[in-house]
Amino acid sequence: MLFKSRVELLEITLLRSLNARMSLSEKDVRNYTRLRKGFEGEQKSDQWLEGLSEEWLVIHDLLLEYNNSKFQIDTLLLSQDKVYPLDIKNFEGDYSAEGENWYTSAKKDMKNPVHQQNRCVILFRSLLRDLNCHYPLEPYLIFINPEFHLYITTINPSLVFHSQLNRFLKKLNARSVKLNKRHYKLAEQLVALHIVESPYPHLPAYDYDQLEKGILCPKCFSLFSEIHGSKLTCGHCGCTEEVESAVLRSVTELSLLFPDQKITTKIVLDWCRIVKSEKTIRRILGKHYMRLGCSVSSHYVPWNE
Ligand SMILES: [Zn+2]
Repeated sequence: MLFKSRVELLEITLLRSLNARMSLSEKDVRNYTRLRKGFEGEQKSDQWLEGLSEEWLVIHDLLLEYNNSKFQIDTLLLSQDKVYPLDIKNFEGDYSAEGENWYTSAKKDMKNPVHQQNRCVILFRSLLRDLNCHYPLEPYLIFINPEFHLYITTINPSLVFHSQLNRFLKKLNARSVKLNKRHYKLAEQLVALHIVESPYPHLPAYDYDQLEKGILCPKCFSLFSEIHGSKLTCGHCGCTEEVESAVLRSVTELSLLFPDQKITTKIVLDWCRIVKSEKTIRRILGKHYMRLGCSVSSHYVPWNE
């Protein structure tokens, strides 16, 4: 049973938007690409784990802390007598491992992912002990990308490669799993301990005036270039979208980028740019948001605020 699903990191959402609307430094682009690729790998892994029988408890994406050290568990599987932390890697290309050292295809040193996982397992074990849980841990590194190859001279059963995914799942499904209240309680405790980090300190500096205005295509993230009646068309990928849903998406994006910005007809008109009618913007905002104030200074807030 899926106990906690994965949502896209807000940092990825915001970097995608900034990448489309301003010129990011090479370092920021690299960071954005790394996060995006990691997330894509995790999504593929989540789909693969949908093949796990319903009895298992599946918790995706936990950021936990022990003794002031934070650690990430991409996916945690709970069975009746064991806990399986999975670390998902979306590496692509040829890598090699010689002893404790790992190298990229360009023969560059890289962090040994086994060491990284060991650190996480040590912290997680201590955390579980504090929660009075003593199930043994069986960690795995899952290499989800079919285009990944590791030249390795030793056998390490905790590494699972793309060609082994089916068999690995079969092996798990063959284990009998009967969970009780204690397992569900543990899952609840861990999810309650999950840390939600603010993405804002990690973002490059940006301000409203410097960002390109317009509505981003939801498929290829270039700016919509054509509007016909109530439909927008992307000149890049041909995708079309109703103006109403596109404006609402853009308002959400604006609020995420500028959490202190008041949502007014004027600012949304400027932000969306391609929609020229103030009446249309006012109608859409009036339909989906609550209007506060009635003069020129009125602004809109979500209904639940
Ligand atoms: Zn497009």
